[in-house]
Formats: sequence, structure tokens, C-alpha cells
Amino acid sequence: MRIAIAGAGLLGRLLALELSGKGHQVEVFDAARDAGPRETSGTEGAAWTAAGMLSPVAELDRGNDDVFRLGLRSCALWPGIAQAIGMPGVCHFDGSLLVAHRADAGAAQRLVGLLQAKADAGYQPEALSVDALAALEGSVHGPSLAWLLPCEGYVEVHNTLHALHAQGERQGVRWHWDCPVQRADGGVLEVGRAGETEVRRFDHVFDVRGVGARPQLPVRGVRGEIFLLHAPDVDLSRPLRLMHPRHSVYIVPRPDRYFVVGASEIESEDRSSVSLRSTLELLSAAHSAIPALAEARVIHTESNLRPALPDNLPLLEQGAGCTRINGLYRHGWLLAPALVEQAVQGLAA
Ligand SMILES: Cc1cc2nc3c(=O)[nH]c(=O)nc-3n(C[C@H](O)[C@H](O)[C@H](O)COP(=O)(O)OP(=O)(O)OC[C@H]3O[C@@H](n4cnc5c(N)ncnc54)[C@H](O)[C@@H]3O)c2cc1C
Repeated sequence: MRIAIAGAGLLGRLLALELSGKGHQVEVFDAARDAGPRETSGTEGAAWTAAGMLSPVAELDRGNDDVFRLGLRSCALWPGIAQAIGMPGVCHFDGSLLVAHRADAGAAQRLVGLLQAKADAGYQPEALSVDALAALEGSVHGPSLAWLLPCEGYVEVHNTLHALHAQGERQGVRWHWDCPVQRADGGVLEVGRAGETEVRRFDHVFDVRGVGARPQLPVRGVRGEIFLLHAPDVDLSRPLRLMHPRHSVYIVPRPDRYFVVGASEIESEDRSSVSLRSTLELLSAAHSAIPALAEARVIHTESNLRPALPDNLPLLEQGAGCTRINGLYRHGWLLAPALVEQAVQGLAA
């Protein structure tokens, strides 16, 4: 089949990999100037800003059973994707940590109780003593309550996005940059800048433009801010979430002792620079869990919008000649492989 994909973010790249791997002729259209990273391409794609946590259990705090099951399926699929793009080391599944300070024990116990009630047997948080925590992650000092979520992990987002693009190219995908899509409907894409568009016809189109899919979908952007730190003295091999009554803060490793600290969650489509309040709250919370972060260097800060639908749940809508996937919200890296699998199976049916 001749297939068009509107949007070369996370979903678009995964779809391109899968569909070209099955022998389809695939063309991808994106408004960005080039394949990335975000700083040079001017893309507004959320995928570049994400921390890349793969947290089916911890996300039960906000998600429902569908998010949990899709998340587990994606965790099973990620190693095969990493292999297919020639980067087997790009995803990590050594578990993740939930930690809390003694003063926040009430909030932490409530959250862990919720996760225990919602997660299936075999995926329950495992309580850790302070000594067990120290043995796992030597740089964590301060939190006296800790749980390990053994099935969780993270993916290196930038390396993965680059490798998905490169592998797509090797499989014959045609990437069209600086090519905004105004409309995606059954077998049709309207591409180009407003006032100078052309209609292109395909056997099937996929609309995965994230926040850019308006007005065809009622998607909104939810602002999130992150910090990239370099801390050569810090040892942290697993994502760590600090439970706190006011904000949820996580620290996620990246290669070469870089760490992402995130993330605010603000109901606003403001893409401006990170705020002083978020800087103070997120970084002081991170420092309270890993004191050695005091000497970290702040390499980069970034804000972006998570694409969310009114119910904050993912949408996979398959009609004649057109498939739409959107609303991946705060769990896009967690959900995308499973949703892409379903969408590709739906195309063949
Ligand atoms: C701060 C932050 C932290 C996050 N952390 C995590 C995390 O730890 N774990 C996790 O699972 N998820 C996380 N996410 C969520 C995740 O990044 C998103 O859910 C995911 O990127 C959504 O993927 P997508 O392909 O739908 O959209 P995007 O990745 O946003 O891609 C959309 C693409 O469409 C293109 N586009 C837009 N409009 C048009 C147009 N008109 N024409 C053509 N192309 C267009 C854009 O340029 C972009 O390339 C985080 C998000 C943020 C902002």
C-alpha cells in the first residue's frame, strides 16, 4: 500500500519503521525543518523533551487499566524495537524507584496503596529498607521510604528518535520536512502552508500530529518543564520519583552521567522558558533526594506541550482510509509501541 504519515514525532517514526518493515511504501510529512534534534529542527514535538520513563505501574496514579495494559505491552515491545533500529542498549529495564521523605509518609503511603490496589499481582511496588536502597543507588540520601517497581525502566529518547529516523531511511521511507499538513482524511493529505496547499492521495493516511492535529481533534497541550543536568559525581542507574504532597519530581538517567529532572504539569499552552517557581521547586526537591546534585551543572532547560484529549486517555481511531492516534499525554513513550502495533494490525484486518 501507499501510506502517508502526518507527523514525524514518536508515533510517526514508530509507524514508519513498522509499516516500511512490512513492505509498504511510506511517506512522512512534518512541519519541522529537519529530522532533529528539536533545537535545530524547530519541531514542536513533545517526544524530544520527554524524560522517557516507562512506568506502567507508577502511571496508574493518573492512568486507567488500559494505560497499564498498553504500557506493559510496550515494555515488552521496546527491546525488539531497539534491536530493529540497531541500538539494543537504548532501553533499560532495571526497575524504577519511588521514594519519600519521612515527613511525607502519609502522601507516599496513600499513593503506594493506590498502586497496590490497581496493579496486578506480580507488578506490585516492593518496599525497600534504607540499606537496600543505598545498595541499589548509592547517591540517594535523605528519603527514608522507598519502593522498587521491578518491571519499569526508561528509554534514551534522543538516541531512539535519531535511530528510528535512520532505520526508516534504510527501509525506504521518504521523509518530507518543512511540510505542514493542514488536513488528514480518508486517503487524503492536504500539505503545505496555509494558502498554498496541495492535495495528495494515498491508500491510507495516519494522522499523528500531536497538538498539531487541531481542529480535527479536540487536543490540547499540557505544559511540562524539564532540566538537563550533568553530574559526574552522581550514581543513579534507575529512574527515581520523589513523592511529595505538592509536586511530583523525577530524575531519569541519560548516558554519560547526564540526568533529566522533571517535570511540571501545568494546564497552559505556554511554550515560553521554564519559570523560576518550577526551577526552585523541581531542583530543590531533586537535590533533597540526591545531595550530590548540588554540584551538577545545569546544561539545558526546556518546556513543551503534552498532547492530551479531554479525558486524558489515548485515542486510536481507525476509519476508511484514515487512522488517528493522539492524546498520549504524559505517557507517550510508554504507550506508543503498543498503539502502533494495534494500528498496524487494524490496517491488515
Ligand atoms: C516535559 C515532558 C515530559 C515527558 N515525559 C515522558 C515520560 O517520561 N514518559 C512518557 O512515556 N512520556 C513522556 N512525555 C509524553 C510524550 O513525550 C508524548 O506523549 C509523546 O511525545 C506524544 O507523541 P506523538 O507522536 O503523539 O506527538 P509528538 O511527539 O508531539 O510529535 C508530533 C509531531 O507532529 C509534528 N506536527 C505537528 N503539527 C504538524 C502539522 N500540522 N503538520 C505536520 N507535522 C506536524 C511535530 O513537528 C512533531 O514532529 C513527556 C512529555 C513532556 C512534554
